[in-house]
Amino acid sequence: MFKNVLVAVDGSEHSYKAAKLAGGIARNLGADLWVVIAYDPVPGYLGEPYLQRAISERMDHAEKLFEEAKQEIGSITGELHTEILEDDPAEAILTVAKTRNVDLIVMGTRGLGKLKGMLQGSQSQKVVVHAVCPVLLVK
Ligand code: ATP
Ligand code: MG
Repeated sequence: MFKNVLVAVDGSEHSYKAAKLAGGIARNLGADLWVVIAYDPVPGYLGEPYLQRAISERMDHAEKLFEEAKQEIGSITGELHTEILEDDPAEAILTVAKTRNVDLIVMGTRGLGKLKGMLQGSQSQKVVVHAVCPVLLVK
Protein backbone atom coordinates (compact mmCIF):
# COMPACT_ATOMS: atom_id res chain seq x y z
CA MET A 1 0.00 0.00 0.00
CA PHE A 2 2.58 2.59 1.09
CA LYS A 3 5.90 2.29 -0.75
CA ASN A 4 7.78 5.42 0.29
CA VAL A 5 7.32 6.46 3.89
CA LEU A 6 8.77 9.68 5.36
CA VAL A 7 9.39 10.24 9.05
CA ALA A 8 10.36 13.63 10.49
CA VAL A 9 12.72 13.68 13.47
CA ASP A 10 13.59 16.67 15.67
CA GLY A 11 14.88 14.75 18.69
CA SER A 12 11.62 15.06 20.65
CA GLU A 13 9.91 12.13 22.31
CA HIS A 14 7.00 12.44 19.87
CA SER A 15 9.32 12.24 16.90
CA TYR A 16 11.04 9.10 18.20
CA LYS A 17 7.62 7.54 18.71
CA ALA A 18 6.91 8.49 15.10
CA ALA A 19 10.18 6.83 14.05
CA LYS A 20 9.21 3.62 15.84
CA LEU A 21 5.79 3.56 14.20
CA ALA A 22 7.17 4.45 10.76
CA GLY A 23 9.72 1.65 11.14
CA GLY A 24 6.93 -0.82 11.94
CA ILE A 25 4.89 0.33 8.95
CA ALA A 26 7.89 0.14 6.60
CA ARG A 27 8.78 -3.32 7.93
CA ASN A 28 5.25 -4.68 7.49
CA LEU A 29 4.82 -3.23 4.01
CA GLY A 30 8.37 -3.64 2.69
CA ALA A 31 8.46 0.12 2.08
CA ASP A 32 11.48 2.42 1.76
CA LEU A 33 11.87 4.93 4.58
CA TRP A 34 13.15 8.51 4.42
CA VAL A 35 14.22 10.14 7.68
CA VAL A 36 14.02 13.94 7.41
CA ILE A 37 15.94 16.15 9.81
CA ALA A 38 15.80 19.92 9.31
CA TYR A 39 18.12 22.36 10.99
CA ASP A 40 18.01 26.14 11.34
CA PRO A 41 19.75 28.16 8.68
CA VAL A 42 23.25 29.19 9.70
CA PRO A 43 23.34 33.01 9.95
CA GLY A 44 25.16 34.41 6.93
CA TYR A 45 26.87 37.12 9.03
CA LEU A 46 29.02 34.53 10.81
CA GLY A 47 32.53 34.81 9.46
CA GLU A 48 35.09 32.02 9.31
CA PRO A 49 35.94 29.90 11.23
CA TYR A 50 32.58 30.31 13.03
CA LEU A 51 30.53 29.60 9.93
CA GLN A 52 32.15 26.21 9.28
CA ARG A 53 31.99 25.39 12.97
CA ALA A 54 28.26 26.22 13.14
CA ILE A 55 27.58 24.08 10.06
CA SER A 56 29.54 21.11 11.33
CA GLU A 57 27.88 21.33 14.76
CA ARG A 58 24.47 21.18 13.11
CA MET A 59 25.53 18.25 10.94
CA ASP A 60 26.93 16.36 13.93
CA HIS A 61 23.71 16.94 15.84
CA ALA A 62 21.61 15.77 12.88
CA GLU A 63 23.77 12.63 12.52
CA LYS A 64 23.17 11.91 16.21
CA LEU A 65 19.41 12.27 15.76
CA PHE A 66 19.56 9.93 12.76
CA GLU A 67 21.46 7.30 14.79
CA GLU A 68 18.85 7.50 17.55
CA ALA A 69 16.02 7.33 15.02
CA LYS A 70 17.61 4.21 13.50
CA GLN A 71 17.42 2.50 16.88
CA GLU A 72 13.68 3.19 17.01
CA ILE A 73 13.11 2.18 13.39
CA GLY A 74 14.83 -1.19 13.74
CA SER A 75 15.64 -3.31 10.70
CA ILE A 76 13.57 -2.92 7.56
CA THR A 77 13.75 -4.81 4.29
CA GLY A 78 13.36 -1.67 2.16
CA GLU A 79 15.97 1.05 1.86
CA LEU A 80 16.62 3.47 4.71
CA HIS A 81 17.68 6.98 3.71
CA THR A 82 18.22 10.25 5.48
CA GLU A 83 17.76 13.78 4.22
CA ILE A 84 19.33 16.49 6.36
CA LEU A 85 18.25 19.93 5.19
CA GLU A 86 18.85 23.52 6.20
CA ASP A 87 15.28 24.76 6.00
CA ASP A 88 12.07 25.47 7.83
CA PRO A 89 11.06 21.96 9.07
CA ALA A 90 7.65 21.86 7.36
CA GLU A 91 9.18 23.10 4.07
CA ALA A 92 11.90 20.45 4.31
CA ILE A 93 9.34 17.71 4.94
CA LEU A 94 7.11 18.85 2.06
CA THR A 95 10.09 19.16 -0.31
CA VAL A 96 11.36 15.65 0.42
CA ALA A 97 7.81 14.27 0.21
CA LYS A 98 7.52 15.71 -3.28
CA THR A 99 10.97 14.84 -4.64
CA ARG A 100 10.93 11.27 -3.27
CA ASN A 101 7.32 10.46 -4.22
CA VAL A 102 6.43 9.87 -0.59
CA ASP A 103 2.99 8.33 -0.06
CA LEU A 104 2.85 8.56 3.76
CA ILE A 105 4.28 11.17 6.13
CA VAL A 106 4.70 10.19 9.80
CA MET A 107 5.51 12.86 12.37
CA GLY A 108 4.79 13.92 15.94
CA THR A 109 1.80 16.06 16.83
CA ARG A 110 4.19 18.11 18.98
CA GLY A 111 7.94 18.50 18.96
CA LEU A 112 10.56 20.34 20.94
CA GLY A 113 8.50 23.54 21.18
CA LYS A 114 8.07 25.03 24.64
CA LEU A 115 4.47 26.21 24.32
CA LYS A 116 2.87 23.34 26.20
CA GLY A 117 -0.55 24.98 26.02
CA MET A 118 -0.67 24.50 22.26
CA LEU A 119 -2.43 21.31 21.22
CA GLN A 120 -0.50 20.95 18.01
CA GLY A 121 2.87 22.22 16.83
CA SER A 122 3.14 24.70 13.99
CA GLN A 123 5.18 22.36 11.79
CA SER A 124 2.79 19.41 12.00
CA GLN A 125 -0.09 21.82 11.36
CA LYS A 126 1.58 23.21 8.25
CA VAL A 127 2.39 19.76 6.87
CA VAL A 128 -1.18 18.51 7.40
CA VAL A 129 -2.53 21.52 5.50
CA HIS A 130 -0.12 21.39 2.55
CA ALA A 131 0.80 17.72 2.06
CA VAL A 132 -0.77 15.91 -0.88
CA CYS A 133 -0.44 12.47 0.75
CA PRO A 134 -1.81 11.11 4.05
CA VAL A 135 -0.15 12.42 7.21
CA LEU A 136 -0.01 10.30 10.37
CA LEU A 137 0.44 12.38 13.53
CA VAL A 138 1.83 10.50 16.50
CA LYS A 139 0.85 11.46 20.05
P1 ATP B 1 6.55 24.68 17.54
O1 ATP B 1 7.77 24.24 16.77
O2 ATP B 1 5.46 25.21 16.68
O3 ATP B 1 6.91 25.56 18.69
P2 ATP B 1 6.43 21.95 18.48
O4 ATP B 1 7.93 21.92 18.37
O5 ATP B 1 5.82 21.41 19.72
O6 ATP B 1 5.87 23.40 18.21
P3 ATP B 1 6.33 20.89 15.79
O7 ATP B 1 7.60 21.66 15.55
O8 ATP B 1 5.17 21.10 14.88
O9 ATP B 1 5.80 21.11 17.29
O10 ATP B 1 6.72 19.35 15.80
C1 ATP B 1 5.85 18.34 15.35
C2 ATP B 1 6.67 17.27 14.65
O11 ATP B 1 7.26 17.87 13.50
C3 ATP B 1 7.83 16.67 15.42
O12 ATP B 1 7.43 15.63 16.31
C4 ATP B 1 8.68 16.14 14.28
O13 ATP B 1 8.11 14.93 13.79
C5 ATP B 1 8.49 17.24 13.22
N1 ATP B 1 9.57 18.25 13.27
C6 ATP B 1 9.57 19.42 13.95
N2 ATP B 1 10.74 20.06 13.80
C7 ATP B 1 11.50 19.28 12.98
C8 ATP B 1 12.82 19.37 12.44
N3 ATP B 1 13.63 20.40 12.71
N4 ATP B 1 13.27 18.37 11.63
C9 ATP B 1 12.47 17.31 11.37
N5 ATP B 1 11.23 17.16 11.85
C10 ATP B 1 10.74 18.12 12.65
MG1 MG C 1 9.04 22.57 16.74
